[in-house]
Amino acid sequence: MHFQNTLAFARELDQTDPLRSFRDRFHLPAPDGRPLIYFCGNSLGLQPKTAGPVLEKEMAIWRNHGVEGWFEGGETSWYTLHRQCKDPLARIVGGRLSEVCPMNNLTINLHLLLTTFYRPTQEKYRILTIGGDFPSDQYALETHLKARGLDPDQTLVEVFPETGNQTWKTEEILRAIDENRESLALVLMSGLHYYTGQVFDMAAISRKARQYGITVGFDLAHAVGNVPLRLHDWEVDFAFWCSYKYLNSGPGGVSGMFIHEKHHTADLPRLAGWWGYEEARRFEMTKGFIPMPGADGWQVSTPNILAMAVHKAAIDITADAGMESLRSKSERLTGFLEYVLKDSGFPLEIMTPSDPAHRGCQLSLLVRKDGKAVFNRLLEQGIIGDWREPDCIRLAPTPLYNTYEEVWQVGQVFAAAGRD
Ligand SMILES: *Cc1c(COP(=O)(O)O)cnc(C)c1O
Repeated sequence: MHFQNTLAFARELDQTDPLRSFRDRFHLPAPDGRPLIYFCGNSLGLQPKTAGPVLEKEMAIWRNHGVEGWFEGGETSWYTLHRQCKDPLARIVGGRLSEVCPMNNLTINLHLLLTTFYRPTQEKYRILTIGGDFPSDQYALETHLKARGLDPDQTLVEVFPETGNQTWKTEEILRAIDENRESLALVLMSGLHYYTGQVFDMAAISRKARQYGITVGFDLAHAVGNVPLRLHDWEVDFAFWCSYKYLNSGPGGVSGMFIHEKHHTADLPRLAGWWGYEEARRFEMTKGFIPMPGADGWQVSTPNILAMAVHKAAIDITADAGMESLRSKSERLTGFLEYVLKDSGFPLEIMTPSDPAHRGCQLSLLVRKDGKAVFNRLLEQGIIGDWREPDCIRLAPTPLYNTYEEVWQVGQVFAAAGRD
């Protein structure tokens, strides 16, 4: 699309935006009365207007029914709440109903999934990942391996971008899998890199791993609700995500797991609890663990119903918008941000790939000169992005609630900073 850096052009795009009504389904933070320009949905998505009412509904059920609340409402009861999340989740991640289940929190799910899917042998014991992945994932891998008596330095193969580059070429990752095929048990990495905003070619990585019988799992923290996913078709073995970023389920909201259908067998090793036990017999309280079929069998504890109720309300909005529509607005919205930033004349480098196929909402800017000053200037204008020391500003216009006019305003701040 041919962009123009004018307010009239931005407003024109807003008026013809098929998703424009979705903005009104969120509370826009306005601490001083004036709504902020919120470009931080990659860190904490905004509160859906339905979140408060559903919470109050569950509180009333608890207040009025006590323990009977578990079954109050039949098909919409607490007891079935995780099942009610499956349809929107399946649509968002491209999985079957049996392959997805909301549960726990992200890093906990990573440990649980490593227990199941990392099964090293004498020859095949290494884990390929990307260098500089999100710290929680690094700490989880390091400590998980140590807890199992393995040396992380001997076990992890970290792929860094070729010298001088901020981002990876798909071939670099595929080549690393090729080169290490004899020793790899698992490929485990982010599907979308939190720092650079790069989307990896999950289909190609999964295909390459499968070719050598290597298990593959993706952390979708920054990908879910951001880019279309086809986990089932890509034959990803497992995936996990958090829901408080692009899924807007609230701080520390419920995470989720995807387990490909081909692994829906009862004999996989796992760390279990009663919530993953065969539902029909759960209350017989008998000895010997029998898992629920599918992803449900990885549930451990009684679900956090209050958080899950908000999660359901939030993912309904994303599923309602549809990932294809969200994506087509997102490509344009982020493309417009790229355009106004380049047009601003402010000296910056965009780390995020310029090809829309290799990025989601977020642009990560390297601002070597006066980075913090321009970031503060954005803040003064009520624009919320995120600052990473020493010189990175991440801005994530999200298609559910951000507008082209807001993007244009961000460009104006950079242009003014460039002039001064
Ligand atoms: C946000 C994020 C996390 C956070 O993990 P929690 O367990 O939810 O605190 C982990 N990994 C990645 C890649 C993330 O982007």
